[in-house]
Amino acid sequence: MRLVVFDEYRIGVLESDGIHDLTDLLPVAPLSYAPYRMNEFIARFEQLRPLVEERRGSTDTIDPAAVQLQAPSPRPRNFLGAPLNYHSHSEEMKGPIASGGTSAREMGFFVKASGALTGASGAIELPRLAGRRFDHEAEIGFVIGRETRGVSTDTALDHVFGYTLVMDNTMRMTESNREERTMRKSFATLSPAGPCIVTADEVPEPGSLELKLWVNDELRQVGQVSDLIVGIPELIAQASAVVTLFPGDLYATGTPSGVAPLLPGDRVVIASDQLGAMDLAVVERSW
Ligand code: MN
Repeated sequence: MRLVVFDEYRIGVLESDGIHDLTDLLPVAPLSYAPYRMNEFIARFEQLRPLVEERRGSTDTIDPAAVQLQAPSPRPRNFLGAPLNYHSHSEEMKGPIASGGTSAREMGFFVKASGALTGASGAIELPRLAGRRFDHEAEIGFVIGRETRGVSTDTALDHVFGYTLVMDNTMRMTESNREERTMRKSFATLSPAGPCIVTADEVPEPGSLELKLWVNDELRQVGQVSDLIVGIPELIAQASAVVTLFPGDLYATGTPSGVAPLLPGDRVVIASDQLGAMDLAVVERSW
């Protein structure tokens, strides 16, 4: 199933005939709660599934081209990322943009602000910071489906609700600017996610998930989950030994080699045969 969040954080299932709106399957909630609704939808998904299946067969659909796609999990309580999780990227980071450490196995996870997220209909808005470099990082993300604490690698995949594309676009350090990784990876709109969550039942072999990233039609990055240094079960075991993970939590699994600067005017396409595609404009921030 392909689940989307659109417009004022409505929830839908994407089918070949369009989006079937599922928002009314959850109780009416205050507007301020709307961005968090997907977390509850995910937590209740197994209970809601028969109603969702019924809705998939309805003829009442919305044209996907007519909506604003938001990040498919717009307010994860925990938004985590793996540093240096492909050998190829670990090698390239030994150069002038080195950040220390060798792989996600030794370094564990980092935290990103959920406010960095935007959706497939958004743009990447680069802050106006003279002399600073913002690199694209195309990644495969997974979304947690239930409360997850202290799990072993054997059962970790049972806690995955689904998969999505995510970008972990990053401000690089310089000789004299040594900000925390969390801040450098938390700029608003620099983490587009989407276009949808593909539920885990449709991904029997997560190792086969792959992605490609183009900038202005030039292929820059190619990656596959089976090439991760620390695989998804181990990432979950590692993180859940530190903090309880919750439905809707999003984990960006790391970027393959090919990271390079983004500039205003660029056009970024990130695509996966299994997960869909996002076509994103890079613009200068207006504030
Ligand atoms: Mn990354």
